[in-house]
Amino acid sequence: MLRSIEQIVIHCSASLNGRSLGGGGQSAAEVMDAWHSRRGFMRRAAACRAFNPRLPALGYHWVIDCGGVLESGRSIDEPGAHVAGHNAHSIGICLVGTDAFTASQWAALASQIRYLQRRFPTAHIVGHRDLSPDLNGDGNISPNEYRKTCPGFSVAAWLAGGMQPLPRHLIGGVNAAL
Ligand SMILES: [Zn+2]
Repeated sequence: MLRSIEQIVIHCSASLNGRSLGGGGQSAAEVMDAWHSRRGFMRRAAACRAFNPRLPALGYHWVIDCGGVLESGRSIDEPGAHVAGHNAHSIGICLVGTDAFTASQWAALASQIRYLQRRFPTAHIVGHRDLSPDLNGDGNISPNEYRKTCPGFSVAAWLAGGMQPLPRHLIGGVNAAL
C-alpha cells in the first residue's frame, strides 16, 4: 500500500560547504549511510532487500552531492529516518554541505522538487528546521525555536523565488550560476 505523503523535507548534511562526500570508491549516500549506521539507524530488512540493499541505514530518500548528482536512498514507500515525529508521511532529501551549495546542487534540488510536486501535489515543501516544535504555542516557528538550522537556508524564500539559487547560499556567488 502506498503511504500518503504530507511533507517533503529538505535537509543538509552539515559537512563542509562545497566538499563532495562521494569519491574514493564511495558515493555520498554510502558515506552518509555509514554515519547513520553509527547513530543506530537501521532500515527494515525487507525494505532494504527490495531497494538499495547497499544502504542498510541511510535515513533519507535522496542525497544530492556537490556535483549535483541525485542519488537514491530509501524508496518513496519506505518511511525515512530524518525528522522526529514526521517520518511516517514525509520524504527526506539531503544536500551535501551546511548552508551554501553549488549551482548544480540547486538545479538538481529544483528538478527533484518539481517532480515530487507533480507526484504529490498536496505535500508541503519544508526545511527540517521548519518542523521544529512550536515552543511558545503562537503557531509560528520563529528562529529562536529552531531546534536545528538544517538545511541552512529558508525553504520558503527559495520557493517564493521560483526555486532559483539563493545568492547568499550559492557557492561561487551569483555569477557562477550563469
Ligand atoms: Zn535535517
